[in-house]
Amino acid sequence: MKTKKLILLLMTFSLLACQGQTNQNSMSDSTLFPGAISKEELKKNLSPEQYYVIVEKGTERPHTGEFNLHFEEGIYTCAACGSELFDSDSKFDAHCGWPSFDQAKANDKIVEKKDVSHGMIRTEIMCANCGGHLGHVFNDGPTSTGLRYCVNSLSIDFKSEEKEE
Ligand SMILES: [Zn+2]
Repeated sequence: MKTKKLILLLMTFSLLACQGQTNQNSMSDSTLFPGAISKEELKKNLSPEQYYVIVEKGTERPHTGEFNLHFEEGIYTCAACGSELFDSDSKFDAHCGWPSFDQAKANDKIVEKKDVSHGMIRTEIMCANCGGHLGHVFNDGPTSTGLRYCVNSLSIDFKSEEKEE
């Protein structure tokens, strides 16, 4: 009788342990972001092209983006949640076909994640607030930071300085 109870107890424990494991594995990326937005809501508020880039981590075709050769004074924000990501001061023309920046507006604005898709080892960059895909960051920047944040125009919006004041 005692042994049976012990076995039952052990089984319950291992079952609980298993469940704990499953929960951890099924935790999606979005739960890590304080301002995560549901896919349904994003689908409503974004264009299909934006959804493809921001949610499905796609890449817009080079030289097609609205902000590729855009050099006005202002702040670039996340197209999904509005978080301020880059100052226009950090933008430069990398001739790569995508908006490029040498640093984020602040250290906590952007998160990085290793990306091994498409047979390349790259560092994906995401909005730290909502987790929206922005592009990739490379270590070949021409300025003092040595960094090149290569961002899809579809992932960002722009606020000009005038509007802010
Ligand atoms: Zn965002």
